[in-house]
Amino acid sequence: MNNLLTCCTQLSLETTQLNYRDYLRSPLFPVVLTVSSYFVLCLPFLVCDIMGERWTWVQQFKIQPSRRPTASTLLHCAGVTLYNHVFLVLPASVAQWAWRPPVDLPDQAPALLELIGGVICNLLLFDFQYFIWHLLHHRIRWLYVTFHAIHHNYSSPFALATQCLGGWELVTVGFWTTLNPVILRCHLLTTWTFMVLHVYVSIEDHCGYDFPWSTSRLIPFGIYGGPSKHDVHHQKPNTNFAPHFSHWDKIFGTHAEFSFSTVK
Ligand SMILES: [Zn+2]
Ligand SMILES: [Zn+2]
Repeated sequence: MNNLLTCCTQLSLETTQLNYRDYLRSPLFPVVLTVSSYFVLCLPFLVCDIMGERWTWVQQFKIQPSRRPTASTLLHCAGVTLYNHVFLVLPASVAQWAWRPPVDLPDQAPALLELIGGVICNLLLFDFQYFIWHLLHHRIRWLYVTFHAIHHNYSSPFALATQCLGGWELVTVGFWTTLNPVILRCHLLTTWTFMVLHVYVSIEDHCGYDFPWSTSRLIPFGIYGGPSKHDVHHQKPNTNFAPHFSHWDKIFGTHAEFSFSTVK
């Protein structure tokens, strides 16, 4: 714990000395961090999709082995993602840059337990918000057709489908991801860690592979959904509404386990 503190304090001092302080304080920094994390973290899964049968060891973990993304589906999702980034993310970033003052950069890093606790609380809060949002968008037909249907174009998800979203959904997700660390009064390093981890687990939910190192396999007692559970949501859209954990679906009776019989 102390090592992390010392390391991060050292990092903070070094970045200050190298004059990166203004970049890190900028309201644009979290946007650049999450957008670049998205494309970098999608890349390994995208390579697995493109290599397909040539990588037999990887393909044994494919959740729906008979359904692989084609070049046109990959291009469609890349196009929607690019459109959203140019017409929504970029203007929102410029507005933030113009109107939001730079944040204070703390001199001290958070303790390791504070960082881990903050990240878990952020994931739990987002999980609750998105569960309600998602349930409403499936239950109310107008909301589904107008905003959420585009995300269900593909019943066999793949990494690039993560942000194949309508603008309203992307704005809502971005709003909560930005607001929640402020509500929870998180340290800046905790906020950035949450944002990158959140991008990763969202991509993992859609990657279409259930690797031995999937979060749902690493976190015990079935408390975490992971790629296999979200894959079931894309196959049976009235189940598994929570993006990360399993408890809300279990409480509301919408939880569904993955089984190979669900694969059509
Ligand atoms: Zn999805
Ligand atoms: Zn849905």
